[in-house]
Order: sequence, then structure tokens, then C-alpha cells
Amino acid sequence: MQYHTHGFNPGDPNVFAAAPGHRRAGDPLPETIDVLIAGSGPAGLCLAAQLAREPSIRTMLVEPKFGPMEKGQADGISVRSMEMFQAFGFAEKVMRESVWINETTFWAAGAESLLERVARVQDVPDGISEMPHVLLNQARVHDMFLDLMRDGPTKLEPDYGLKVVDLEIDPNAKDYPVTVTLEHTDLARLGQTTQLRANYVIGCDGARSSVRKAIGGTLHGDAAHHAWGVMDLLATTNFPDWRMKSFVRSQDAGILMVLPREGGHLVRLYVELDALGEHERVADRGMGADDIIAKAQRIFQPFKLDVKDVVWWSIYEIGHRLTDKFDDVPADQLATRTPRVMLAGDACHTHSPKAGQGMNVSMGDTFNLGWKLISVLTGRADPALLHSYSGERRAAAQGLVEFDHKWARVVGSKAPDTVTDGLPRVAREFVNNLPFTCGLTVQYEPGLLTGAQLHQHLAKGFEIGKRFHSAPVVRLADAKPMHLGHCVDADARFRLFIFAPANDTGTHGGAVDALCSWLQNDAASPICRFTATGEDIDAVIDVRAVFQQGFRALDYTAMPALLRPHVGRLGLCDYEKVFCADATRAGDIFDMRQIDRANGCIVIVRPDQYVGHILPLDARDGLSAYFANILRARS
Ligand code: FAD
Repeated sequence: MQYHTHGFNPGDPNVFAAAPGHRRAGDPLPETIDVLIAGSGPAGLCLAAQLAREPSIRTMLVEPKFGPMEKGQADGISVRSMEMFQAFGFAEKVMRESVWINETTFWAAGAESLLERVARVQDVPDGISEMPHVLLNQARVHDMFLDLMRDGPTKLEPDYGLKVVDLEIDPNAKDYPVTVTLEHTDLARLGQTTQLRANYVIGCDGARSSVRKAIGGTLHGDAAHHAWGVMDLLATTNFPDWRMKSFVRSQDAGILMVLPREGGHLVRLYVELDALGEHERVADRGMGADDIIAKAQRIFQPFKLDVKDVVWWSIYEIGHRLTDKFDDVPADQLATRTPRVMLAGDACHTHSPKAGQGMNVSMGDTFNLGWKLISVLTGRADPALLHSYSGERRAAAQGLVEFDHKWARVVGSKAPDTVTDGLPRVAREFVNNLPFTCGLTVQYEPGLLTGAQLHQHLAKGFEIGKRFHSAPVVRLADAKPMHLGHCVDADARFRLFIFAPANDTGTHGGAVDALCSWLQNDAASPICRFTATGEDIDAVIDVRAVFQQGFRALDYTAMPALLRPHVGRLGLCDYEKVFCADATRAGDIFDMRQIDRANGCIVIVRPDQYVGHILPLDARDGLSAYFANILRARS
């Protein structure tokens, strides 16, 4: 973490000084706003936390409830989300507070129909990520985003007690084209409405989204016509795997899932309840907490379950649904209009909670959108960039809905469980699906933001279109062992990682020096074209280099000036741009990610941590073309 960049600041470095011109909680509502976010679930808060860091953007978040969430809803945090939390700076906090899921066990009826453990498998495959799979209540994740918002320069707080009821877009208005009608939900002003105009409205308002309805969107899909109960509880039991994630399939009482939770005592159960009729709604059955407990006790037999405290419960029906488009621009108007209203999270895709994806995919949506909105609103990118949001994230959501369909069928199947290679079918499917449930199978298609696979062979372990798979390195200036991916902050900047050829030490005449010199000095380079006058040289594209030699073999002072830039109000040197392979301890990044040792390469990482492109070190035109498609010339 870098701070004191603009002068010494005492106190907590996570708390920024307030930027002028921003509303404080309780101030009157504004007439206009840059971005209005509807909903303070994981999607809305993840977006708000990114926008709150940008002092030039005025953001507002409205939420009909009266305060932050305290319990319930989702709890699964995939390794991919943990990587994203690292970029926000709170992964370590989540790791300390959460429960880690390392093993998953499978129970089924055995001899005399008694439950027995039939399989246990590793939950996160080795080497897939440096992050664990954890469980933590959604409310705590909300709290961490709320802290970032409050501590950021714009001191953003949700406006509770307000909901979006309608909106209209004026296609001819240049500024603030979206007129939004908000309604108060507190008793004193219940039903009173007010209007404001926004440049962008983001509907993160859940499965019954008013924003989606206002732009004519519909969720298409189906329901499984089966009721499930979910319960967070404190209990005593003689079931041996109470602190393991477990799938339990009884002879004929049904299925449940055990999910140990944070703090060492809390447990979540997902319990299969009754089949529903074709036109029956789950609410029609009038089931409650007692029904969930009674069913769980029957499934668990002969083990005992003595419930001491029910913390939260809900009964739901599985539905797999998706909207056609995640923004307001119909397919036939793509060339003439850019998006003004976008949807994220449950507002545009819903699925069963059992695969633990709802919160993760919702945050993934707005991590994709946040940097794009910031780039457009700060003038770095053309608004057309926003078209890429719906295309990229709808494809990811489609993959999730298909996976979820398949997984719900496997878990709910009444067919006898066939055993292959020592694993019953559910356990086998579970293992096969791990890369998906870890959140690591999303791969963006080649297009505006994702380069073609032409040079993939230069670094086979950084798959173009997939998330940047971090690996260990040592920082040259202070010999700190660390993960390369951890220098990618959620700050809307692109990263350009230069991997040096074998004998290149960064000195004059080498390929790294030649590339850095071009990037810094040539008017055609993306840094010169897209960094505005007066901005730090790494404000838009942050260049870092990784060398093959150990840190004692290299001289920091001999590195190209671009890798030792002087930044901030005081022009202080940034010492954190150069890294070495950690060959003797944690592993050599060049081997681990199959980087061409003879030639080296450039890996472009998007602000949302996805690999944008891989290019040879001398591909000046390719580098210029990649950024020219995305950014606007500013200098
Ligand atoms: P949400 O978390 O639904 O947040 C939407 C927010 O928008 C809410 O705060 C809502 O009050 C607000 N809002 C609604 N209407 C408006 C409006 N008109 N204007 C402004 N704001 C509005 N997932 C699991 O993995 N396991 C579970 O057990 C589980 N249980 C769930 C139980 C419930 C009751 C619900 C609703 C969801 C549950 N989920 C569960 C799903 C998971 O919580 C979601 O997938 C995830 O929260 C999606 O995040 P989101 O931000 O898109 O939407």
C-alpha cells in the first residue's frame, strides 16, 4: 500500500481527506447527479465503492430499507471474489473473519439405510489461486464496501428510505438525460415522490428490479417447482462433519447441505422441502422455520440436531432467469446510442443459491462496469465503451444460469448414485465444476477489450480474456516477497506488465529499456497519447516490469526512468514498479506462467484484473492499437 504520496498525512492511511463539493449524509437531495445507483446489495455497493474513490464523479445510492443489512442472504465468497477483494484492500480482513472451505464431504444412505460418509474431496484445487474459498455473511461484505465508501474522498453514504419507482430517458438530451422518480419509504414521508436527473442510472435493485421494468426488460427462464429452506442457526449435534461443507442425501427423507460459517459455531443449512405444483407459489404453502428444522432432523437421522437459536431463515423456490440485455440500448440502435441505464446482479440474472454464486457474480458485474463508468465520466474513454458491459457480463451470466440448471439437477436427482473412480456422481460433478464455482471460468471473447490469441504462446499461463492469474515475485527495491497480482488496485487503471527476456537487466540497450523509452517519450505511445497534461505518468497506464534474475543481481538505479517515475505533488520516486522472479523460494513466475524466457512479452491487464492482451516486446503498433480502441487522446 502506498501513501504519503502528496505529503505526510497522519492517521489511518485508508481514510482519505474529503474532496470539496460532495453531499454529506442527510443533505437535501440534488437536482442532478452523475451516477444514480439503485440498491445497496453486493452489486450496488461494489460499484459505489469504486466510484467513491473518484472525486470528480458525483454518485448517489438509494435504498428503500432504513439501514445496512445485518444478517441473511448469501454467504459464499469464491476465490475470484477474494482476488477482487484484494484489489479493494480488504481480502486480509475477510480471510481473518470468515470460515475457510478446504474440504467438502458427501453423505448418503448406506447399509440399513443409515447415513455414512461416502466421499470427501479437496474444495479448491491446488495452484488455481493464492486465495481461499470462504464463507462470510453478505452483511459483513456490505460493511466492508460501506467502509470504503465512507472513507473515500467523496465520503459517499447510501440514501436509505428511498427507492426508484420509474425513469424516463430523453434520447436528445446531452446532459443528465435520465429523469428518475424516487419514492420515500419512511413512515413520515411514505409515498411522497421526488425527481432528479442523472447521467447514468444503474439498476442493482434485485430480482424485482424497478429499473429493469422501466427500460422494458424481462427476466426469461424457468422455475424448478421445488421449495427449499435456508437457515442460519446455532445448534448442537453429533453429526461428525458439522464444520465441513457437506452434502447429505438421506434414503427417502430428502437432501440437505451443511455450510459451516464464520466464528466457529454458526452453521447454514439448505434443506430440500416439498415439490410445488405447476402454478403454485412457495408462499402459498405457509411453511416456516419449524418446517425447515423438522425436515433437517429427519434427513440427519440417526444423528441428532438440537437447535439452540435460529438466526435467520428463508424459504425459496429455485428459478433460473436472465434478461435479454443488461442496458437500455436495443440491438438495432447500437450505432446511434450509448447506454444510459444499466442493470447488474439479480436485477438481470437469478439462479439457485446452492452453487453459492449470487453475490459473487453480482459483484463481478459491477467490477466490470465500475472502471468503464469512471473512464467515461473522467473523459478518458468514449461512452461507446459502455456497450461492452452488457455483452461481456450477459455471456458470463448465461454461463452461470446454464451451470446452475445442471447443478440443481445433479443435487436434486433421485436416481441411484453411480460410483466411478471411487467417487459418487454428485462428488464427481462437484470436482469437475470446481473451476466454475471458484469463479475462474469467465473468459471474455476477443473484441474491443480482449485481444486476439495471436501471441498467447508468449505466456501460456496468462490466458487472454481470463482473469490475471497472479504468481509470486520479489519487489526489487525492498526485496519484499509478494504476489504480482496484488499491485492491481481497484483504481480504474490499466496495468502493463513487461516480462524481460533472459539476459535483459533493464539497462540501456536492452529490450525493456527500449520499450520503456518509447512508452515514455514517443508521441505515438499510448502513455503519451492517453495521459492528460499534469497527470502522473502512471495515472492511466501503470507500467511494471518483471526480470528473470534474482533481486541481488539487479541494480534499481539502472532501470529505465519509466520504472522509477516521480509522482504526486512533491514529485517523489515510486520504488514499486520493478520485480524479480522468486526462483529459490515461492516459485519462478516465468516457469509457473509459461512465459517465453528468450523473448519475454507484454501482458496488458484491464482494470478489472482480466488479461486484455499479450504482445511481443517490440509490438509498438499492436500496443498503440489496443489502447486506441478504448481510450481517448487527451494530451
Ligand atoms: P440484492 O442483494 O437483492 O440487493 C438489491 C437491493 O436493492 C436490496 O437492498 C433492495 O432493498 C434494493 N431495492 C429493491 N428495490 C429497489 C428500488 N426500487 N430502488 C432502489 N433499491 C431497491 N444467495 C445465496 O447464495 N444464498 C442464500 O441463501 C440466499 N438467500 C437469499 C434470500 C433472499 C431473501 C434474497 C433476496 C436473496 C438471497 N440470495 C441468496 C441471493 C443473493 O443474496 C443475491 O444473489 C445477491 O445478493 C445479489 O446481489 P444484488 O446486489 O444484485 O441484489
